[in-house]
Amino acid sequence: MNSNQVWAIVVAAGRGERFGKPYNKVFHLIDGQSILTRCLTNLSSSNAFDGIILVISEQDEAPYAELTAREGVCPLVRSVVYGGATRQESVMNGLRALPESVRYVAVHDAARPFTAHSVIHALVNAAAEYGAAIPGTPMTDTVKIMDREVFSVETPDRSTLCAVQTPQIFNREKLLQAHSMALNAGVPATDDASLYERFIGRVKVVMTPECADNIKVTTQQDIRRPGHFIIPRAGHGYDAHRLTEGRDLILCGVKIPYEKGLLGHSDADVAVHALMDAMLGAAAMGDIGRHFPDSDPQYRGISSIKLLNHVVALLETNGLAAANADVTIVAQRPKLKNYMDEMKNNICEALSLPEDRVNIKATTTEGMGFEGEGLGISAQAVVMLIPSEALS
Ligand code: MG
Repeated sequence: MNSNQVWAIVVAAGRGERFGKPYNKVFHLIDGQSILTRCLTNLSSSNAFDGIILVISEQDEAPYAELTAREGVCPLVRSVVYGGATRQESVMNGLRALPESVRYVAVHDAARPFTAHSVIHALVNAAAEYGAAIPGTPMTDTVKIMDREVFSVETPDRSTLCAVQTPQIFNREKLLQAHSMALNAGVPATDDASLYERFIGRVKVVMTPECADNIKVTTQQDIRRPGHFIIPRAGHGYDAHRLTEGRDLILCGVKIPYEKGLLGHSDADVAVHALMDAMLGAAAMGDIGRHFPDSDPQYRGISSIKLLNHVVALLETNGLAAANADVTIVAQRPKLKNYMDEMKNNICEALSLPEDRVNIKATTTEGMGFEGEGLGISAQAVVMLIPSEALS
């Protein structure tokens, strides 16, 4: 049996009330993936752990079952145990579920999904050397001690202070001993290191620059910060339709007076088709042919703006929304200038975007090619999608 096994206890049993949702924040989806899955995946891919005990609250059994059905089970999770009334009890339940072969245990908050792998490995090494290690960041603000009337009365020396995070990694037997002693003595604690300090000994603080990125999701503000969750996705779309007599010319939902119209199964709104393809492209969800096949009679003659509404709703269910859109229509004739405002309004409305996030433009090809010869009209679109969280 490998006596140097390192396991993690991931604590997800809190309510996360400051997040302001009726459910536990770790089940919150961002760009289609829960905070909990992001956390477990990050720990797994660090290759630092031999197993994970997940601690959830009993009320969260159903949401957790939904999560695993949707996002899969993290293979490193060896068992799921219920938490207690306090974080301390929850950790204790996790410790009791660990196999005796485990030498080191990392206690980690499920709400920290971005811990750098370099930080995890530095902590494992420090725990092996010192018995206990925690990640910390230097204090950048001056810290004050206040009295009960909320007056500042003392200023500790900043160089002796740090703010600490998780994962906190310990020799398993020693942490179990610290928790047992705290339980017997009725000593409460908000983190495991404080129990270790009190009953066992010193805890090494690992302070690397990467600790600054190890944020804990507490409020919704935390997930709107660029960088971590808010990763924009660019998409490009292109479409072309043939001009023919006896059809209406519809561009961006506007009927434009002209002797010909575009040929197609729907209303053949080439500009909206390019835009939808750009959106589906950014979402890595294929193209409009896949979602609205030509062979399906329900789409015959349909307004492409209606299809665009479908695409917007589809992206929304996947947690994505357009941040901006830029559409270029390539047509030798007719002149589109007088219809631009109406076209733009239609797109703004469909995408729920203000005027300064949507651009519609038209160009000719100076008589060259199929557009120049008046055989057809083409369109190109570029969109940026972002997690809809960022816009809420
Ligand atoms: Mg088309």
